[in-house]
Amino acid sequence: MKARIPTAATAFHWVLTAVLLLGLALIIARGVAMRLESPETGYWLNTASGVRHTADCRYYENTKQGRPCQPDEGLACGICGG
Ligand SMILES: [Zn+2]
Repeated sequence: MKARIPTAATAFHWVLTAVLLLGLALIIARGVAMRLESPETGYWLNTASGVRHTADCRYYENTKQGRPCQPDEGLACGICGG
């Protein structure tokens, strides 16, 4: 009985599969980490101006600088009422 020696093509295939799986795992891990870092609170703080927006506001998650915040952080937006 002959031992099965993998050819270069077979080895390449396995390396490629391993790299793809690793890449996929990294993408999933990054997504989970981002979700943990910025939990949605329903309020968005523009960290450049210090103005807070609600989820209904056009500026919610739509400012150059910002992060989710608590309802008592920053100043209430004049449009949505913060
Ligand atoms: Zn607003």
